[in-house]
Amino acid sequence: MKHALASAAWRCGLTRRPARDGRAVVLAYHRVTAQRDRRPGMSVHPDTFEQQVGFLASTYRVLPAAQVAEAVSTGRPLPQGAACITFDDGWRDNYTEAWPILQRAGLTAEIYVVTGHVGTDRLLWTYAIPNGLDPHRAGALKRLPSKERAVALGNTAAATKAGERVFLSWDEMAEMLAGGVSFGAHTHTHPILTNEPPDVVDAELAACRRALMHGLGVEPLGFAYPNGDHNQAVRAAVRTAGFRYAWAASGGRCGPTSDPYAIYRLVVHEGAVRAANGRPSLAVFALMLSPLARLLPSL
Ligand SMILES: [Zn+2]
Repeated sequence: MKHALASAAWRCGLTRRPARDGRAVVLAYHRVTAQRDRRPGMSVHPDTFEQQVGFLASTYRVLPAAQVAEAVSTGRPLPQGAACITFDDGWRDNYTEAWPILQRAGLTAEIYVVTGHVGTDRLLWTYAIPNGLDPHRAGALKRLPSKERAVALGNTAAATKAGERVFLSWDEMAEMLAGGVSFGAHTHTHPILTNEPPDVVDAELAACRRALMHGLGVEPLGFAYPNGDHNQAVRAAVRTAGFRYAWAASGGRCGPTSDPYAIYRLVVHEGAVRAANGRPSLAVFALMLSPLARLLPSL
């Protein structure tokens, strides 16, 4: 159904132009790498990314994240075809793979950094949950407050060693910042904030904010919730910490009626844009960005 609709809509041009509904598409990427990531849903291949960026550059109007968020906050209509590119976690391949592609296309992006991992070879704690673990057990582990999870998982240091540096360094970020990329916060250690007590939430937000201000010399305006999880208390803490806007991890297209502390994004990964033949497809990507995607809630 998804593939048939994607190719039909693409063939007749429906998804090859942006909808005129005053809404924006905000894309959430993680890694851009040819290597196979251990966790599903974390990466796109550089060739796939290049194709998608080419489509965005020729079809959409890619704006800085702060500009889209400001329009949402003030209820101002967004320009037709507004789009925005974001990355979560701060992976090193955002510099080595994604940035050259963005530069060639003349586009910008905003990257949400887990400041406790900057410049390290330590993968996020989610990588310590063994692949193939019963999904209920894996889900229960993810929902534990970080202190209890550390006990349940034992020593995660070995399981999360990547063997090479996998996160951006401050120097790389400074170079990208000078080149027009902006940076926001994604906590200090990537806990799922809805599982944490208020003092841990506040400490994570403050540590991340402080590190970004110290490391880059600019105040981070935006925040992205780890795992996309938020509730009223977490949204209020993010606002109180001084952030002007915050992104959820999914939900669809965003517009002037969106909550500026829970702005929808569309999570892009290799598995989400495959055609029936298993290869990444621009028609499936274009459908994902279109209001037609609402016809397919599973997208
Ligand atoms: Zn994340």
